[in-house]
Amino acid sequence: PGAQMPFDPEKKTLVVLGSGWGATSLLKTLDTADYNVVVISPKNYFLFTPLLPSVAVGTLNPRSIIQPTRYVTRHKKRAVSVIEAEASDIDPINKTITFADNSEIQGQVSTTTIPYDYLVYAVGAEVQTFNIPGVKENACFMKELHDAENMQRRFMDCVETAAFPGQATEEVDRLLHMVVVGGGPTGVELSGELHDFLEDDLKSWYPELAGKIRITLVEALPSVLPSFSKQLINYTESTFKESKIDILTKTMVKEVKEKSVVLQMPDKSIQEMPCGMVVWAAGNKGRKLTQDLMAKLPTTQTNRRGLLVDDYLRMQGAQDSIFAIGDCTATSYAPTAQVASQQGAYLARVLGSLAKKENLKNMLHQLESSIDQVKGEEEKKAAVAEIESVRNQSAKIKLRPFHYSHQGSLAYIGSEKAIADLPFMNGNIASGGVATYLFWRSAYLSTLFSLRNRTLVGTDWVKVKLFGRDVSRE
Ligand code: FAD
Ligand code: NAD
Repeated sequence: PGAQMPFDPEKKTLVVLGSGWGATSLLKTLDTADYNVVVISPKNYFLFTPLLPSVAVGTLNPRSIIQPTRYVTRHKKRAVSVIEAEASDIDPINKTITFADNSEIQGQVSTTTIPYDYLVYAVGAEVQTFNIPGVKENACFMKELHDAENMQRRFMDCVETAAFPGQATEEVDRLLHMVVVGGGPTGVELSGELHDFLEDDLKSWYPELAGKIRITLVEALPSVLPSFSKQLINYTESTFKESKIDILTKTMVKEVKEKSVVLQMPDKSIQEMPCGMVVWAAGNKGRKLTQDLMAKLPTTQTNRRGLLVDDYLRMQGAQDSIFAIGDCTATSYAPTAQVASQQGAYLARVLGSLAKKENLKNMLHQLESSIDQVKGEEEKKAAVAEIESVRNQSAKIKLRPFHYSHQGSLAYIGSEKAIADLPFMNGNIASGGVATYLFWRSAYLSTLFSLRNRTLVGTDWVKVKLFGRDVSRE
């Protein structure tokens, strides 16, 4: 009953959890002829996260940076089952997964359990609030598509409220003070994008407010962008200074209130800073589903950062049947899209090899069990040779461990400037400026997964150049 998956009992069932960077890259490369493939994700689309801050300020249309998962899988050799649902329980011993439709509309059946032979666990991570009071209630996030849309609405509300006739100067200053928490790449890119919006658009549409807007970036560590080279950190800091973005380092947010943030300053004193909007970009942590899964294998899964995997991305302690990729894992790699997508493509090749090995194993089994029925000396010799050949082919299939190839780090810092740390020979090239910005644009355009998205993003950029950003508030 209902929408059934194209099930072939001869093939193993491969369940893929998630539709983000890791899962989508896997689906792009995977030969679906080898498996019954089922994709389960609460979002029925892929989100191109690097351009999310551009959505938050209205440079890009939200729809331009998403791609329906069915669009990704539609040309696959064998049909892939795509289910919009949230996995709620995994049983690594009996190899089953339970998932539920948690969307607004539900049918008679909204939760079910299915068996898997292989599970690709690619559910990413969630926002880390450190249980700091008021973060969940009063701050905006920058992780999912709705976060960016939410921030844009809130930001425009602050601007419109500040423009309300008779608003006291102090209140206008508060409403137009935007605080970004976290000086990692997300916080830095978002501050840069916010600055562009103020500079390019608010000056024209709200000239009376333009000079009054302030952006403050708060970072607990001694500098922003700790993963970039010193030269680019300095460049970002000086660009932000010119752009009038205040950076407060060695400063920790202790509480987010409705109209202010409470800060612990470098000298440990506590200050309350009035503001209209707080964007929380202070990093990520593992999902509850991941913690629950780890708790089922307590002797092997001991790293609180995420799932431990071996060099072949197999989850430790899970009988070689669960693979984990991307932000849900604890590895020596940074939790980035670049790592997740390389792991996804690698795993697709591993799964291809495993399917080939399985086919050869079945063939060998058949040949061996029928050898006694072979009559005649010549025929027997031929059958033995065939068995030997299948054995050799199987032995030749060797899995190679995952190897990450770093293509460099890129970030947009506003004012049509970007920074890039690119590996070159055995060293590194650091560059920052307008040329890097053009490189940033072309690199992101080419990384977008489809021609459809490239066209939509390219068109949005042209539209903004011609008409400016849309300041209407939905
Ligand atoms: P995700 O891409 O987060 O995908 C997780 C998937 O799992 C989602 O589809 C989600 O809906 C699904 N899911 C969640 N819960 C469940 C469940 N219970 N059951 C089933 N499915 C579930 N990295 C870079 O390398 N370069 C960049 O420029 C860059 N820019 C970024 C900008 C922003 C604003 C952000 C937030 C991140 C950025 N990153 C960047 C980091 C990058 O997005 C992540 O490292 C990457 O998304 C990790 O991929 P993933 O597949 O592990 O997880
Ligand atoms: P992050 O973990 O890199 O940075 C979060 C920052 O918030 C940290 O520097 C931390 O010190 C600070 N922080 C935490 N709590 C705080 C508090 N209470 N007060 C003040 N500061 C606090 O998070 P991110 O920037 O979202 O990045 C997540 C991952 O995604 C990283 O691996 C990053 O490389 C990747 N990413 C890459 C790009 C890019 O390459 N352009 C863009 C965005 C994200």
